[in-house]
Amino acid sequence: MCGIVGVHAPGQEAAGLAALGLFALQHRGQESAGVAVSDGDQVMVYRDLGMVSQVLDDRRLASLRGGTAIAHCRYSTTGSTLWENSQPAFRLGPRRVVAVGHNGNLVNTRELLARLQGGRRRLQGSTDTELLTALLASEERGDLLDALLRVLPGVRGAFSLVVMDERRLFGVRDPWGFRPLVLGRIAPGGPWQGAEPAGRPPAEAAGPAVGAGWVLASETAGLDAVGAEYVRDVEPGEIVVLGEGEGPRSVRFAPGREHLCVFELIYFARPDSYMLGRNLYEVRRRMGEALAREAPAAADLVMPVPDTGGPAAAGFAEASRIPYREGMVRNRYAGRTFIQPSQALRQRGVNVKLSPLPEQLRGRSVVVVDDSIVRGTTTRQIVGLLRRAGAREVHLRISAPPIHHPCFYGIDTQVETELIAATHTTDQVREFVGADSLAYLSIGGVLEAIGLPRERFCFACFDGRYPVPVPYDAVSHKFLLEDASVAGSR
Ligand code: SF4
Repeated sequence: MCGIVGVHAPGQEAAGLAALGLFALQHRGQESAGVAVSDGDQVMVYRDLGMVSQVLDDRRLASLRGGTAIAHCRYSTTGSTLWENSQPAFRLGPRRVVAVGHNGNLVNTRELLARLQGGRRRLQGSTDTELLTALLASEERGDLLDALLRVLPGVRGAFSLVVMDERRLFGVRDPWGFRPLVLGRIAPGGPWQGAEPAGRPPAEAAGPAVGAGWVLASETAGLDAVGAEYVRDVEPGEIVVLGEGEGPRSVRFAPGREHLCVFELIYFARPDSYMLGRNLYEVRRRMGEALAREAPAAADLVMPVPDTGGPAAAGFAEASRIPYREGMVRNRYAGRTFIQPSQALRQRGVNVKLSPLPEQLRGRSVVVVDDSIVRGTTTRQIVGLLRRAGAREVHLRISAPPIHHPCFYGIDTQVETELIAATHTTDQVREFVGADSLAYLSIGGVLEAIGLPRERFCFACFDGRYPVPVPYDAVSHKFLLEDASVAGSR
């Protein structure tokens, strides 16, 4: 998935603001983090493997000076978890420097590679982002905007980008609008001086007054973290240009039509973020209500799989008039198990992450609400934990439809045989995870909870209708560029 942030705020410490925004997007990727910053003359990049707060500490940020910055946290869908694959990707070309932060996954990597003079040998890492950055840097005419306008129309797949050179910041969204990207504004006077949502600290508490600025972020939660007020979404097929001494300028590189990943609303984005005008906590709570109507269960209590199942569990409890309880606690310092890059790490992660509360569970029949079942192994461990803690019956309710198809647009579920619902019936899944009953929310129930037409979303992992055709074998895709990289040849 990845989290991206861009800041153009002349006279301010843009790297620090970008890191703050990125910290709010940590849930989108935990493998690496990095920032690129420019003081108007020179672009500096710092990136490393690890969490945002580990990589971008105060001491490091103090040395990254300048008013324009981009930042990125990584969750891999192309290339291994190596330093070389951390972002922002950076390239010094014959005519320009370019730094890129990318959320998404390209599906025509092989075709793009053929366009790069020198091919694989020119790549330092093994990601599609590295390839895109190399293509932008190698364009021989014009400035970075000209390079974007020449390269982007040939790029297919999911890409929300923050791109920068020494002087300007660009926010880009692919023509299908798979991944979100929002534009916000730091009001004159500095962070928290614009429209203030309830509960926001008063302006004096937010630090000294500073100048205005613009912020790009994967989610509105990233804007909130730096005190920027939401202005609008970057449109599919649009480049937003920041840094010419004026407000944002909009340039189109292709006609666009939104197919926002519906998983962003179901599970991935933060519940305090807004997408398409919807607050995601409220959307998920309504998904729980719809699930209770579609698949009721007689039980003593309703509990979430913490934390992401919380809003849907609250909705289920409300609609079914069954008490809501916490049946497990989550170690808040453990990362998301699903986005760890290997199965072995994911399995170990569950034990560290969740602990049952036997006093709440013993002898009781429980409805457990979660937002998805991907491979089934985590769910099986959770059901086992609950049973060992004394739960009499476990009724599993999933606030999403079964995942029947792989994703090629930025979620690391590219291998169909790893998806349990693709190869097993619902009853076989129930048996595998060890639940007494199992039911999923329908696509109609998801749409009812969101309140927007189906055409605005990608539902491909549920219905197999891919908005952009995927031209070649998915298994080879994630590591397609691996043997081309410096890392791969060591
Ligand atoms: S295939 Fe699924 S996970 Fe991938 S973009 Fe579409 S809805 Fe999202």
